[in-house]
Amino acid sequence: MIPFNKPYMTGKELWYISQAHHRGMLAGDGHFTRRCHAWLEAQTGCHRALLTHSCTAALEMAALLADIEPGDEVIMPSYTFVSTANAFVLRGAVPVFVDIRPDTLNLDETRIEAAVTARTRAIVPVHYAGVGCEMDTIMAIARRHDLLVIEDAAQGVMAAYKGRPLGAIGDLGCLSFHETKNLISGEGGALLVNAGRFAERAEIIREKGTNRSQFFRGMVDKYTWVDAGSSYLPGELIAAFLLAQMEEAEAITAARLALWDNYHAAFAGLEAQGRARRPVIPADCRHNAHMYYLLVADLAERTALIAHLKARGILAVFHYVPLHSAPAGRRYGRAGGDLAVTADLSDRLVRLPLWVGLDQDGAQQQVIDGVTEFFAKS
Ligand SMILES: *Cc1c(COP(=O)(O)O)cnc(C)c1O
Repeated sequence: MIPFNKPYMTGKELWYISQAHHRGMLAGDGHFTRRCHAWLEAQTGCHRALLTHSCTAALEMAALLADIEPGDEVIMPSYTFVSTANAFVLRGAVPVFVDIRPDTLNLDETRIEAAVTARTRAIVPVHYAGVGCEMDTIMAIARRHDLLVIEDAAQGVMAAYKGRPLGAIGDLGCLSFHETKNLISGEGGALLVNAGRFAERAEIIREKGTNRSQFFRGMVDKYTWVDAGSSYLPGELIAAFLLAQMEEAEAITAARLALWDNYHAAFAGLEAQGRARRPVIPADCRHNAHMYYLLVADLAERTALIAHLKARGILAVFHYVPLHSAPAGRRYGRAGGDLAVTADLSDRLVRLPLWVGLDQDGAQQQVIDGVTEFFAKS
């Protein structure tokens, strides 16, 4: 079977974990966490990076930092992972779902302003497939209406919009290092604090509402409970694993981009014949090859393609069930305008295997042949 995803390990992970073990300091914010923070700050130019247990945890921290209150509204796409909405629902907010662009499947910036109300507090752009949202427009709308921008850059590590790394453009940004993302630590994530005014409180929220971080830096002489918070920091073993990945980030991204380019070239003919649409990368975006997908004619064709590939030992998968149509989405959220593009494209999208090493043993060629054969027959 050719799996949809296969976690790539650089070879240095266990060496770094053994060093963390040897250091005898296993809780969070030790040597390896500091090195991961330094890498993220250098890589993205964010004011402060903080490792978290997951992107979900980083989004929850962002909702706390934004002081989201019951009844507040947060604008986001419906075509996203549940955590984008859950983080705000946990604070009593109402996710307001705005449609996506037909080209990138990102939040349609031209439809955001119509969804803004007196209760709107934040916009959460999701950089689907590591392709940047139209951030200049989104930032301008947010400034006009005094809203925060919290980027869900779970899929966006090593990608950029107009030269600016994804996650480092809005007030706050959230990254994921889940096993299915480009850089991994099993479970893992980071909060990027771009608006400096949030930095001190972010540290406090992450450390159970205490000023422990300031205490260890010698900035305060007592370590005490100062705010609401929780435990959002991972231990050193996770950070040690992650550092090994970060140090290979360029090579991992290059390898993924090569695979992505192979698919893109192979399916140019299908697109020219109008059989399937390939991903669109706007000229001002540098993507990270997080995902390769095709948009086919309809749900029936997608189901048939997935079955055809499965019969050949290839696992291809669809993606999100739009949140506005999910049981919890209907209970907690509401539509901010028409969601026709979301409803249409979510039924037609199929993701192909993309993982470092896929091109060895001819596996990627098998995927390409399987897809090509399906369209030649149907
Ligand atoms: C993966 C993902 C998340 C969640 O990331 P975790 O680290 O698993 O919590 C959130 N949003 C998007 C868009 C994702 O792709």
